[in-house]
Amino acid sequence: MTSVHELIRGAAEAEQEAASPRRALALRATGISNCDTGLVRDPWAIDREAGYGPGASVGDRIPGDAPRQGALPERYTNASEAELTRWITEARAALGERVRILGHFYQRDEVVQHADFVGDSFMLAQAAKEHPEAEAFVFCGVHFMAETADILSDRDQAVILPNLAAGCSMADMATIEQVEDCWRQLNEVLADEATEEKQAVIPVTYMNSSAAIKAFCGRNGGIVCTSSNARTVLEWAFERGQRVVFFPDQHLGRNTAKAMGVTEEEMPLWRPRLPLGGNTPEQLRDSRVILWNGFCSVHKRFTVAQIEKARAEYPGVRVIVHPECPAAVVEAADGSGSTEFIRREIEAAEPGTVLAIGTEINLVNRLQAERPDLTVFCLDPVVCPCSTMYRIHPAYLAWTLESLLAGETPNRITVSDAVAEDSRVALERMLAARP
Ligand code: 13P
Ligand code: SF4
Repeated sequence: MTSVHELIRGAAEAEQEAASPRRALALRATGISNCDTGLVRDPWAIDREAGYGPGASVGDRIPGDAPRQGALPERYTNASEAELTRWITEARAALGERVRILGHFYQRDEVVQHADFVGDSFMLAQAAKEHPEAEAFVFCGVHFMAETADILSDRDQAVILPNLAAGCSMADMATIEQVEDCWRQLNEVLADEATEEKQAVIPVTYMNSSAAIKAFCGRNGGIVCTSSNARTVLEWAFERGQRVVFFPDQHLGRNTAKAMGVTEEEMPLWRPRLPLGGNTPEQLRDSRVILWNGFCSVHKRFTVAQIEKARAEYPGVRVIVHPECPAAVVEAADGSGSTEFIRREIEAAEPGTVLAIGTEINLVNRLQAERPDLTVFCLDPVVCPCSTMYRIHPAYLAWTLESLLAGETPNRITVSDAVAEDSRVALERMLAARP
């Protein structure tokens, strides 16, 4: 199987050739390129720089207080892939059931191969909840996922993020201060619409948000959703409110509400730096879903032109995309759903089926490797992993496990009791709202 990292290296060689006049030929010969030449740079240097690092979110604005990872000891930065694999395997064996490794679908194969559980963000949080025997979970994913695992697991179980620089650029697009400011302004304009049965606005947050925002939703009659239950959650919210304010992914909010018959005019965008989010009081009064101006830089890359090209090249191709993609892309696709939905669609496909997928490259590549009887490819011809998922290099996993073995607990992600309690209210509403 060709891993994403082999692809990146192949693309880098083509890029080097690109410095010469043979650029076009070299790129055409390999058929690949990557979105950022930084992907082949020394990963340890990147971790100490401000910013998300190379990959899909390299251009996104990182909050000034985003955690940075300290330097790894040279034992790890100088190690070969084979050494890291051996150290991880040995440390895992020695730690046994005391430590569970959780791996998100978007992690690189070199990490996923060591995971006890592989899944989407919700499945991994559930896995943490269902394993009270573990003393610690090493969460190979991003920060909000580790927070959710900490909220749902027992208080004395440690949740560890191997590299603190693994945030999520979309989750970072809504801070709790901005959300509270938005809420105050919405209440100034809309509070008179509240009735005994219905709030004027119900806050709904996508799982991809900070624990503080989940807790805010819990405190204010709101709820959490994932990409697999967003419609059920919006139905729950419309039963209890005149309208919804949806954080932080405008695309998931728009795609879900559109499928429920909400019009574009009824979905104003809230831009957090502008008064009333850049809207008039009338626009807010006429709204059904107020969409926070957040997006995922991985899924924003997919276009209708890519779908048209796939259909022209592979007549009969089935196109499936993640609902974090823009509305025009979701409409042009044959289906859309969460990472687990995409995995199941591929699992259920008849041999010989051709599938073009609009989601992160590590998952798409792995799904192709698992089903060699299918043709599975990423709609985006450019190799562009999620830059923050990419921060979990196997060296961090080796360092984390060996530290645990030495009796230390590095990079523990702890949500305060008060925030965890309110977040659980919003998460439990979501679980109860399941159809
Ligand atoms: P899942 O909730 O499907 O794991 O997706 C998380 C994510 O970050 C998608 O971009
Ligand atoms: Fe965040 Fe997008 Fe990466 Fe998912 S793929 S973790 S939403 S940046």
